[in-house]
Amino acid sequence: MSNTILELPCGVDLHGQVKRQVEIRKMKGSVQRDVARIVGQKNPEMSAAIDAVLNPSIVSLEGESLRPDALRVMYIADRDWLLFEVLKLLRGDKVTLTDDCEKCEPVSRIEYPDFDLVGMPLTKLDNDRPWWNGQDVVAADVVSILSPGDRKNLLGRCFVVENKDLGARAVFRYPNGADQKMVGRLGDKPVEVMWKLLCLCLLQWKDPERELKTVPKNFNEDFWGDVDLDVLEWSQKAFAEAMPGLDTVTELECPRGHKKKTQVSAFPFLLQGSAQA
Ligand SMILES: [Zn+2]
Repeated sequence: MSNTILELPCGVDLHGQVKRQVEIRKMKGSVQRDVARIVGQKNPEMSAAIDAVLNPSIVSLEGESLRPDALRVMYIADRDWLLFEVLKLLRGDKVTLTDDCEKCEPVSRIEYPDFDLVGMPLTKLDNDRPWWNGQDVVAADVVSILSPGDRKNLLGRCFVVENKDLGARAVFRYPNGADQKMVGRLGDKPVEVMWKLLCLCLLQWKDPERELKTVPKNFNEDFWGDVDLDVLEWSQKAFAEAMPGLDTVTELECPRGHKKKTQVSAFPFLLQGSAQA
């Protein structure tokens, strides 16, 4: 009755095809209870909290019921976006953001009513991207003429970044739910999370000091430890810039005019009204 059909901004990659159409339902009380249980733990595993929202909320993907592993292969960008779509279905498009301003003496409370969830910038992922076949990049125009049998070997869309000055070239895949779970265990440590994510998503690497290296056996955390820092920093920046998804960072202003950047999270609003919130 209250179900909504939406288009995923990235889509789930399967055998050379992108599945985008998703049907979601309004959240029930039991979902809020399960999510509150996870978020209320000492070191909450946020990817598990996202799964706890999305699993019961997704009715179907391209008309088929959700496969057990679908949330693992769904890109992080789509998972995070869906979380806000479930929120919008539950609470509407506007929420009140709150934060503290530490520049005020004493600390003041910032309240920002009617923040528009629809207005958050979103970067989508085109279908027209190269794919990874397990050994190498397959260009999008080649993918389009492959037979369905050959497309079965395609593992997902990927992207190539290159820096001519450094002589470095890397192929990455886009991070998914399984990666989100892996890096979630590291907690709130941005540098380690980025390092790990880069390591998980690196498919191929070439620089002046190294021969062409390809997954699976070549990359672990030691690989980055041996790469020059300027090259590592370039690849981290290039990776971050290529990420699709919602930009959830927004700027708030306190009553005395101090500006503060805040990351908007869906969870406090999903849990509003429960004892957790
Ligand atoms: Zn202030």
